[in-house]
Amino acid sequence: MLNELRNIVEEVNHAPSIRMALDKVVQRVNQLLDTRVCSVYMLDEDTGRYTFVATEGLNRASIGRFSLGKDSLVGWVAAREEPVRLEDAQVHPNFHLIPDLGEEPFHAFLGVPIIHQRRRVGVLVVQSREKRLFDETEESFLVTLAAQLAAILAYASLEEIIQGPVATDSPHAVRKELSFGGVPGAGGIAMGAAVVLVPSSNLEAIPSRSCQDPEQERHFFDRCLDQVRQDIKVLGKQLAGRLPAQDMALFDAYLHMLGNDALGGEVARRIEQGEWAQGALSQVIMEHVRNFQQLENDYLRERATDIKDLGLRILAYLQKPQAGHEQEYPADIVLVGEELTPSAFNLVPEQRIRGLVSVRGSRNSHMAIVARALGIPTVMGVMRLPLRRLENAQVIVDGHHGAVIVRPSASTLRRYHRLAERERDLAEDLESLWDVPCMTLDGHHVPLLVNTGLMSDISRSARRGAEGVGLYRTELPFQLRERFPTEEEQRAIYREHLKAFAPKMVTMRALDIGGDKSLPYFPIEEDNPFLGWRGIRVTLDHPELFLAQLRAMLKASEGLGNLRIMLPMISSLGELDEALELVGRASQELKEEGHSIRRPAIGVMIEVPAAVYQVGELAARIDFLSVGSNDLIQYLLAVDRNNVRVAGLYRSYHPAVLKALQQVEREAHAQNTEVSVCGELAGDPGGALLLMAMGYDALSMSVANLPRVKQVLRCVCLSDARKLLDQVMTMDNAQLIEQCIREELEQLGVLGMPMEDALAGGGEAVKA
Ligand code: PEP
Ligand code: MG
Repeated sequence: MLNELRNIVEEVNHAPSIRMALDKVVQRVNQLLDTRVCSVYMLDEDTGRYTFVATEGLNRASIGRFSLGKDSLVGWVAAREEPVRLEDAQVHPNFHLIPDLGEEPFHAFLGVPIIHQRRRVGVLVVQSREKRLFDETEESFLVTLAAQLAAILAYASLEEIIQGPVATDSPHAVRKELSFGGVPGAGGIAMGAAVVLVPSSNLEAIPSRSCQDPEQERHFFDRCLDQVRQDIKVLGKQLAGRLPAQDMALFDAYLHMLGNDALGGEVARRIEQGEWAQGALSQVIMEHVRNFQQLENDYLRERATDIKDLGLRILAYLQKPQAGHEQEYPADIVLVGEELTPSAFNLVPEQRIRGLVSVRGSRNSHMAIVARALGIPTVMGVMRLPLRRLENAQVIVDGHHGAVIVRPSASTLRRYHRLAERERDLAEDLESLWDVPCMTLDGHHVPLLVNTGLMSDISRSARRGAEGVGLYRTELPFQLRERFPTEEEQRAIYREHLKAFAPKMVTMRALDIGGDKSLPYFPIEEDNPFLGWRGIRVTLDHPELFLAQLRAMLKASEGLGNLRIMLPMISSLGELDEALELVGRASQELKEEGHSIRRPAIGVMIEVPAAVYQVGELAARIDFLSVGSNDLIQYLLAVDRNNVRVAGLYRSYHPAVLKALQQVEREAHAQNTEVSVCGELAGDPGGALLLMAMGYDALSMSVANLPRVKQVLRCVCLSDARKLLDQVMTMDNAQLIEQCIREELEQLGVLGMPMEDALAGGGEAVKA
């Protein structure tokens, strides 16, 4: 049974569309259980009814034509959230005969609810002619299958299931508008054509895309095939005499597969029909791989690996930039990918990127933070996005509500154009605050600093009245390269940053990679990356990288004296001591080389719970502390900041988070050590209010949030903020605290809510 289940799931996952996947499921279930009818009903969340979306055994013409309500048998199964077995469904009070469905001859019934993360998604049903009870094995098979199906159906839209693939640029594409929900990553509205980023060396993720000139594409494919043939011949020669004859025969088999009467020819024919070479290759290879994987014979089944390997060799050449085969890009790009990272900016013309959409990741993923800093509307965690079929489709990115609208209708477009205009007006209103200080009504000054990382942050931060840099994420310049930057390259970048802000302080954080911050040239593959090799753990293990960076920072500060160095992910005093030792070593080396450098202030990030309980000891060794609330919240609440499934549990106003923040502030000040916050909470108007009331010395945030936070803090008295803090510290529930802060901001009459709420106030925003 396990093998059969696995095969079905494999087939479903690789079917070109969900429509075809469901057809496959119902067919295979009937075969395996020897039933006559298998059907799938899917919940339409708008109506609460279950739409008939797939069948084998009943009238297929009825697919998408009717739905069943709560009072039906299907509705009853869903409501019970348990499997239902009936000897004769037709005598059940909830059974209603649907005209023309062809259900009359079938009596035995087994219905299983399809549930995804507590959410009802649909119902899977099998039926048989005879009057009998399905047995427990049949039931458990269907329950297992339904659990697997749930993850697929939960992220599919009813329209897509009924109509087939979402629009592509093919002439047969469906033209209907579709919307997909995700998590707001960076506010704002963007419109453009989807460019799907294809991860290298992943055949399965290649989207279908039509090519402009099939003949030229075919020549390009032939050239790449020739290169692979050459490689195989060279490898064959190198290994001749070292491998047994039967293994050497594999090289001939490879060469044969590349021929016109085998894989090579199949791919070429698809290209001639208008598919681009990568898409044609992916389709042909994956079809063969799946066919081989289903064979009973172990030896033959393993040949699937050879075919995939061959496909990857060809793909590597197809993806190599080659003269005369440059990709063309639309003027307005909405960049879409499985898991976007900042290195994506290197792959397409950056100045044309209007919006970002990522299937994986959440609001506090590194990509979302960078997008917010750059002001690029972004939606993260759009799990049901049919990535492979989006290329070139017109897309609206609603970064306020976390909605992605594919192929919008004329009226949707008009509505979004109006919203975008209103958004521009609101931003202009905030401009008047750029040059005024961040001072509360009762005269308390809160220094507002910026989080930076990119060169473009420099001018934007200066213009918006930042009082310094509270966090310079040095990993960003590392991510935008194809190798580690040299010490001199780093020095030049850091120098520019320090000079631009001097005499204001710039807090440079030592390289913080790992987690969701990856370097394309230094992959770190781990099961639990956020609990793994990241931040200071990596740099202490690679003193050559750490020392080069420290030397670059110190040299860059020569004559300026506005550098502060901050250490990420510190979880023990030992780590801090080792890091301080390396800072000392770098300074000493530079002194001996004749540089005259002022000792920079050294600080530690409080972002691991262990550090919360060692603030006193840490503070005694360094000059300042800064709370990285993004990580601190994920570690305190055990909620992966990058995982959209648990995004609802990531609560910045959780009482435990507020208590930890208050404790850090008190302990730091007990040691007379300056303490600030540089996580996203500082850039949230409500968060800023509470942090100011707690007594934090400065708040550092993405430059896009700075004017809004300033506006809010300028409208309140510190004494009132303290009263609010006292009130929320007595509450034991994050939701209530959020509500309390929201009401307070509303009462103050400030635009304290995020801009999305102000926009939604007009009742025009589209919720996916
Ligand atoms: C944080 O964790 O709050 C922080 C500022 O660091 P990053 O988001 O870069 O991990
Ligand atoms: Mg962090």
